[in-house]
Amino acid sequence: MTSGDAAENPEPVHPAYGTLRRVTDTASVLLCDNPGMMTLDGTNTWVLRGPGSDEIVIVDPGPDDDAHVERIAALGTIPLVLISHKHGDHTDAIDALVDRTGAVVRAVGSGFLRGLGGPLTDGEVIDAAGLRITVLATPRHTADSLSFLVDGGDDDGAVLTADTVLGRGTTVIDNEDGSLRAYLESLRRLRGLGRRAVLPGHGPDLPDLEAVAETYLQHREERLGQVRDALRVLGEDATARQIVEHVYTDVDEKLWDHAEWSVQAQLDYLRE
Ligand SMILES: [Zn+2]
Repeated sequence: MTSGDAAENPEPVHPAYGTLRRVTDTASVLLCDNPGMMTLDGTNTWVLRGPGSDEIVIVDPGPDDDAHVERIAALGTIPLVLISHKHGDHTDAIDALVDRTGAVVRAVGSGFLRGLGGPLTDGEVIDAAGLRITVLATPRHTADSLSFLVDGGDDDGAVLTADTVLGRGTTVIDNEDGSLRAYLESLRRLRGLGRRAVLPGHGPDLPDLEAVAETYLQHREERLGQVRDALRVLGEDATARQIVEHVYTDVDEKLWDHAEWSVQAQLDYLRE
């Protein structure tokens, strides 16, 4: 490419809606145009391709959005789709994408399986699209939350962290099947993978998983400290809502319902 071309077609930067944005030697992202309070700039659909491979693996087809599904299907031959976790902003497009591509879909549990791949298990190594993809169980943003370690290019191996570690802000523990104790263990597991690129489910990619996971753990410790302090002031039987109104004065009131789930998870943790 000449410099003239580069000026006309600069490398896309996040958020690059509708454009495949290359992030590492083997991973590119297609950002869906579904921004929102829980999705940040939108859902990141990850596109993995090893050197010289004419196949791609998709991680998280995203929400049921026709334009997004069309763009994914047009990227190439897709033998395999991996699902990071159950939330609809990552999974609702599964059937539309399978209709167009016939891809096998694999996830934890049975609800999202399509074709004959079977459920994903912790530690499993998948050979696909010229890559080695290691499945890491990292619950409990949701119980079924996975991360994926991708080896195969010249890079040191990036980690797709889905909603367990985001590109910006912090993760909300699911109010149905989240658990703070398991989530903290998952953050420690990710921190133990060292300095690797973070390819998150929402927000921009980040350079250092070890550092981001450490920041998340510190943030959770701070919040737990605040809840402990609040319980001292409000009494041991204080409700999650009372604690939110006492502690989350620095957080937009629109987020208080979500903060309440988060505080409930902290109360469950402290009262276990
Ligand atoms: Zn999400």
